[in-house]
Amino acid sequence: MEVLNKINERFPCRKKELQTIANLLGHSAEILPSAIHIYGHTGTGKTALLKHFLNESIRHNNKINLNVAFVNCVESYTSRILFENILEFLRNEDTDQTVKIENLKDFIEQLRHLQIEPDALYIIALDNAERLRDMDANVLPSFLRLQQLCGLNLCVVLISQLSLEKFYCKTSIDSPVILYFPQYTKSETLEILSADFKNTQKLLSSHLRRNKADNLSHKMTIVEPLTKEFFNNYLNLFLGVFYKACRDLSELKITARKCFIFYMEPILDGTVNMSDVSKLWRCIAGQLRTALTQVYIRSGQPEVNPTELNNKGIEKIAQSLELPYYGKYLLIAAFLASYNSSKEDKRLFVKNHGKRRKRMQTVNANAKVTEKMSTYIGPKSFTVDRLLAIFYAILEEKVGLTCNLLSQISTLVNLKLLSFVSGENVMDGTSRLQCTVGLDFIVCISQVVGFNVRQYLCDFN
Ligand code: ATP
Ligand code: MG
Repeated sequence: MEVLNKINERFPCRKKELQTIANLLGHSAEILPSAIHIYGHTGTGKTALLKHFLNESIRHNNKINLNVAFVNCVESYTSRILFENILEFLRNEDTDQTVKIENLKDFIEQLRHLQIEPDALYIIALDNAERLRDMDANVLPSFLRLQQLCGLNLCVVLISQLSLEKFYCKTSIDSPVILYFPQYTKSETLEILSADFKNTQKLLSSHLRRNKADNLSHKMTIVEPLTKEFFNNYLNLFLGVFYKACRDLSELKITARKCFIFYMEPILDGTVNMSDVSKLWRCIAGQLRTALTQVYIRSGQPEVNPTELNNKGIEKIAQSLELPYYGKYLLIAAFLASYNSSKEDKRLFVKNHGKRRKRMQTVNANAKVTEKMSTYIGPKSFTVDRLLAIFYAILEEKVGLTCNLLSQISTLVNLKLLSFVSGENVMDGTSRLQCTVGLDFIVCISQVVGFNVRQYLCDFN
């Protein structure tokens, strides 16, 4: 109970959904439901809430023998990688052998052999579960009845933006428990962002310290007593501009923090009084609009042809290229997809909850000697699925798969940084792309976001 209160505090406006999850999964003595399907729009807290609940359950319920596999189907993009990852989460920690699974039958067989203690509970959470559609036709139906197939007290939780009917013909026998996460209203969004007040305040203080602001101690006397009401007033203005354009909570949160610094500037300088809301609004309106356009990629940029540039030019263009943060990571992922063999993907990128480092060192020992460095042979083509899998793997924080991300791929194509090798449609799973930029260019882009691209290239390890 106490745990639930704590989670409710961290995730406002999700009380009902959390209670349902707790009722379904939180009782050790009962048989778990065979499958649960959680769905709702992007940014509605599906992933974050479930993950948090499961982590807290493991932490606080040491009486319960709970085993959890939390897997993102975008990262585990073939059924084989998916099965192997699930088992790596669930099997006994002290076996050091790598899991090898050929097919579904194998997977079920190995699950059957997991059971050691009779009271063990198993939960397999499959995020972005609509990806199961792209796997063999028997994969999804088998997950829905996995409990029955492997004889464990096991529950499969499918998480998706789509309702199950959109990707599965329902049969009455194995329909899962359905749990819908509705979108937050504007006032709920305000409540959630408002819970970030203390963090935002701390960030503002450290921003001032880091930039060695003039009159620092005086400014601190303004920042420290700031109230939540004051922050909520700001959020109201902020959401007035942003709520229509962007419902993605993570993006809203980051942008709200950033814009709060602008909002405070005239107050800290003493040019505007804290209570003069209309004047503050006039000061911030322009900044907010600029921030709003930064949320989206600028597609009107001049085309570049990075392959024909010398080093100096490359550096300049790479650094001035106004790709948004995720756009840069997408381009890096595309480069890795073009120059690494897909066979190495799993070893390179897929996280093994700390057991193995996702670095090249381990690959090193196993890698065959490549005759020619593939970075000099030229790019190979890749699918959008693989691109996204690598993108998710190299990105430390998690973002959802939004249309925004797919449209950023199109923009990279428009900018001629990527090109289609076959097919012409990002949404079509069969299209293949390749990355047109060279190593120097990608190294510059990587430096801008603080990513060490060489570490992930087979050629350099
Ligand atoms: P997608 O379908 O795109 O994967 P999602 O529903 O899984 O989206 P999350 O990734 O769980 O969304 O949430 C997005 C961000 O918003 C996360 O940073 C999460 O912590 C935050 N968030 C979502 N709901 C809440 C809430 N009720 N309170 C506080 N933060 C929240
Ligand atoms: Mg999610």
